[in-house]
Amino acid sequence: MSQDELYDLIIVGGGPGGLSAGIYAMRAALKTVIVEKAVPGGQVNLSDEVDNYPGFEHISGAELSLKFAEHARAYGIEEQSQEVTAVEPGLDYHTVRLADGQVLKSHAVILSTGGSPRKLGVPGEDEYYGKGVSYCAVCDGFFFRGKEVIVVGGGDSACEEALYLAKLASKVYLVHRRDALRASMILQQRVEEDCNIEVLWNTVVTRIEADDDGVHSVDLKDTQTEEKRQMAIDGVFIFIGFVPNNELVPAGTRMNADGFVVTDDKCETNTPGVYAVGDLRERYARQIVLAAGDGCLAALAAAHYVEVQKSKRMGEACEAPAGLFETN
Ligand code: NAP
Repeated sequence: MSQDELYDLIIVGGGPGGLSAGIYAMRAALKTVIVEKAVPGGQVNLSDEVDNYPGFEHISGAELSLKFAEHARAYGIEEQSQEVTAVEPGLDYHTVRLADGQVLKSHAVILSTGGSPRKLGVPGEDEYYGKGVSYCAVCDGFFFRGKEVIVVGGGDSACEEALYLAKLASKVYLVHRRDALRASMILQQRVEEDCNIEVLWNTVVTRIEADDDGVHSVDLKDTQTEEKRQMAIDGVFIFIGFVPNNELVPAGTRMNADGFVVTDDKCETNTPGVYAVGDLRERYARQIVLAAGDGCLAALAAAHYVEVQKSKRMGEACEAPAGLFETN
């Protein structure tokens, strides 16, 4: 393979982690391509307003994404608007296959495929996302100051987010399908002690209703009595788990029990030269700024990895096979 056909780095996914990696990779003079199947920005595009990315008090998710993309483009990054179908690590080079049949090769790969909140799958959930339905209390809680909201779920996330929202909303109803929370005892205690949170046990949301002003009510069902009722509410926060988009993670790459990729502190996986950043990676919190930080780390580490790989190859090329220079 000629050096012209070989990339130093292929970035799979153009969210904040991937684009930040792209910026740092280009600054490190790596021959880099970023492959994204949809528009750059990933999940961030879906946030109506982002109020916690340093330097931007208020910015829409779409605008912030565009700024990330423009920044990477300013360094001349190559982009492919394609779906990646496979990432195959190799001893010499890694292979990335695209849906249109292209086969790309590189020394290093950064996986930035993100994750998705687990969905309830009820009518109104998708339609009113961003209009009262949210999967992020830190992002959207501010808009529900003094309003009544429900939080769906009974795990650590639901309890933590309910506690966060209880400081902003006038009332938080924690809607859980069973009669016992899954969350850790300490969080359960805090929820119990917070007079602004009321737990609706054995209850599921079956429909979310809205008008032009946003969500106004939900249909609830008692899981024991099957009794149905309607409840007026201003917002619905859903925390029933988060699903990493790990379909492209190569076989043999270490993941935790929930499917998040385990990395070292440089974001490198146990597959040499393959990095995971952002929401795909096992980590304490999921925030845009953290994904961007991961992208920086991974690109810097990849630059070092690529340099070492290249010098190894140059060393091998200089080591003449026995007999090559023998003269008679
Ligand atoms: P989780 O622990 O899987 O809990 C999901 C919750 O949603 C459960 O209570 C589950 O009910 C409920 N649920 C699932 N599907 C549902 C559906 N279709 N309808 C209604 N309810 C549904 O998820 P998580 O809270 O996001 O936590 C994920 C992992 O991260 C966990 O290991 C957690 O410990 C960890 N985490 C830790 C912290 C922390 O340590 N501070 C914070 C956040 C998350 P059931 O209980 O009936 O199954």
